[in-house]
Amino acid sequence: MKKILEVKNICKTYQAKNGEIEALKNISFDIKEGEYISIIGPSGCGKSTLLSIISGLENKTSGEIYIDGKIGYMLQKDNLLEWRTIYKNVLLGLEIQKENTSENREYVEKLLKKYGLYEFKENPAQLSGGMRQRVALIRTLAIRPKILLLDEAFSALDYQTRLMVTEDIFKILKAENITALMVTHDISEAISMSDRVIVLSERPATVKTIHKIDFEMENRTPLNCRENPKFSKYFNLMWKELGEKNIT
Ligand code: ADP
Ligand code: MG
Repeated sequence: MKKILEVKNICKTYQAKNGEIEALKNISFDIKEGEYISIIGPSGCGKSTLLSIISGLENKTSGEIYIDGKIGYMLQKDNLLEWRTIYKNVLLGLEIQKENTSENREYVEKLLKKYGLYEFKENPAQLSGGMRQRVALIRTLAIRPKILLLDEAFSALDYQTRLMVTEDIFKILKAENITALMVTHDISEAISMSDRVIVLSERPATVKTIHKIDFEMENRTPLNCRENPKFSKYFNLMWKELGEKNIT
């Protein structure tokens, strides 16, 4: 499979008021088209920094990044604008990029219809937390990214909703052939969704291990992975690796 993202020896040192903070040290990995990759690691080790650098929002100190295609970004807060209709929320990214063309609007309408949001004509207030995340995803997909970055995107949701939303988002990403790179503090979430899980060390973050996750199932989804006998094996392995460290 074709490589869609290549991260080579990324280092990041922040210049803070009271000295330097070394956040990332020689981070290297790559992602192939269609893969779902998760990153876990101790709180404050540099996970969000890494995604910000990949997205271009933050500068790297050294290293190289190769990206084939546009990037979409999903955060914990859905950032939907309450005073805009759902349709107009979904068009926001296209407006910002000055790509609100009839062709793109047609694509957005197709996505809204396909994923059951077209009949919601009003503002986001009428939607459940899960449906709001679905709108946020479709807004991100509207710019046609090849790779989606997710930073703790499901952390604000309660447990039951999170299970349903991760199932939903996973299926949409697979159907639309989007490659994903997700940061999460939830080991189970990482295992259930990913083809590989990257474990980072404490700050400055280095790549400790890259675990290949293979349930040997056709049509895997996050929920049916959780029921697979191999699930707890992977969980225990990563739990031990992270030790007693509080991870977020
Ligand atoms: P994580 O997402 O893994 O919890 P972050 O990437 O947010 O960690 O932060 C890694 C480290 O870099 C932390 O020590 C944090 O305080 C520091 N840091 C993050 N952003 C900045 C910044 N803009 N300026 C200075 N230090 C920062
Ligand atoms: Mg973070």
